[in-house]
Formats: sequence, C-alpha cells, structure tokens
Amino acid sequence: MPGHQRHTRQRAAIAGVFEAQGGPLSALEVLKLARAKVPGMGTATVYRALAAMLEEGALTVVHLLGQAPRYELAGKGHHHHFCCRGCGRAFEIEGCAEGVQALAPAGFRVEGHDLVLTGLCPGCVGG
Ligand SMILES: [Zn+2]
Ligand SMILES: [Zn+2]
Repeated sequence: MPGHQRHTRQRAAIAGVFEAQGGPLSALEVLKLARAKVPGMGTATVYRALAAMLEEGALTVVHLLGQAPRYELAGKGHHHHFCCRGCGRAFEIEGCAEGVQALAPAGFRVEGHDLVLTGLCPGCVGG
C-alpha cells in the first residue's frame, strides 16, 4: 500500500476512534482503540497523528485532575467531564451547572470555568 494511503487510513481510524468514544482520550487509550481497528498500528504513528491533528485544529487538549493530557475533537460546545476512579476513563457530560460562575467572590470577573465530576461510571458501579 502506498505510504500516503496507509497514512490516510491510519488517520481515518484515529478520527473514527474519537467519534465512536465521544469522551476525551489519552494517547494510550487512542493507541489501544486504534489498534483494535488497524492491527499493528505503531505507538509513534499514533503520537504523530495526534500531534498533527492538534496542529491542524482537529483536536483539542483536555487536562483533567492532573492526569496525562487527553484529546477530544475540536469544535464541541461547552461541556464538562466525568472521571471514573474505577476504570480511569473520562466521559463527556453535556450541559452545565447553573449558577457556577456566581460562586466567584464580589469583585472577581469570571471568564470561564472548568468542572470535573468524579466517581464511578455505570460499568464500575455494576462491577
Ligand atoms: Zn469506570
Ligand atoms: Zn459549564
């Protein structure tokens, strides 16, 4: 297979991983999921693809609770995340907490917020 075709296939597989998962993924999670689709995909390939997609603006970085950076598709609306302490995965939560910006003391001008819920995902609650 010509190099650029293989490259395109790998990038498509990685984009597909993000679309299927929804939530933000660490590089290792992307690697694992991408390998399930394209056996033999290398670590360097995945890291290179992530870096290229970041540079192109297709992905954004999400930093959650001091963990390794995760990536998600760019252009999503305002949303938050849930971190499962059981399996270590992060999930996307739609919507926002009402009144959260009003928590700032008088005199502070709020320009944004970041909200991370923690606990157990359904799979970990059940198990
Ligand atoms: Zn879990
Ligand atoms: Zn919010």
